[in-house]
Amino acid sequence: MAQRICEGVFLVGGPDLTASSDCLCYLVNTGAAPVLIDCGAGPGLDRLLDHVAETGCAALDIETLVLTHAHIDHAGAAAELRRRIGCRIVAHHADADAIEEGDRVRSAAHWYGTDLEPAPVDFRVTGKSHRLGPDLSDLVLLHTPGHTPGSLVAVLETEDGHRVLFGQDIHGPFSPDFGSDIDEWKKSMRDLIALDADILCEGHYGVFHGRSAVREFIEDQLAAHV
Ligand SMILES: [Zn+2]
Repeated sequence: MAQRICEGVFLVGGPDLTASSDCLCYLVNTGAAPVLIDCGAGPGLDRLLDHVAETGCAALDIETLVLTHAHIDHAGAAAELRRRIGCRIVAHHADADAIEEGDRVRSAAHWYGTDLEPAPVDFRVTGKSHRLGPDLSDLVLLHTPGHTPGSLVAVLETEDGHRVLFGQDIHGPFSPDFGSDIDEWKKSMRDLIALDADILCEGHYGVFHGRSAVREFIEDQLAAHV
């Protein structure tokens, strides 16, 4: 079953929900155009769309797929999802080529012993931040390089005044294979701590509720890479 995290935010994919190779995937449906944040490796796509439907959102209504970075556990289903529902794919410019070329190394597909199906990136984020739509309730994407050069996080301000941070691979890992930069990552993590988010939706470690829990998780990751 899809899991409700807060008003308009649902966990719809992950190892326990869709396929063992999937990151945690989140649906944001706050009344504006629904957004899916990452889509898993591919084999779990049918189940992911079932979970989207459980939330009351029709798959065809998903307007945007945000790929937080090029890794296959986050982006592997992107090409097939775009074919099925016609969503636009948004990713940061610095990871977009790896997605469009199906780069096995930059996407970590070689770690998984598989291939990344190339997917067109319809909109490339450049610069430090980008608001997905015109409303204040829309998601804001922030460039947080480190894990990969084009890693993005998304931030949602809920109607009841909470700040939700979708920080998919805050924990790393890091490898020259996919262009990691530990110094850039430390700067990015300090930026995320400064956001003082109320909820953190992470890509593999689950959901953290409460400002102190969010801060503690990010600080623990920083402390592990002194
Ligand atoms: Zn990753």
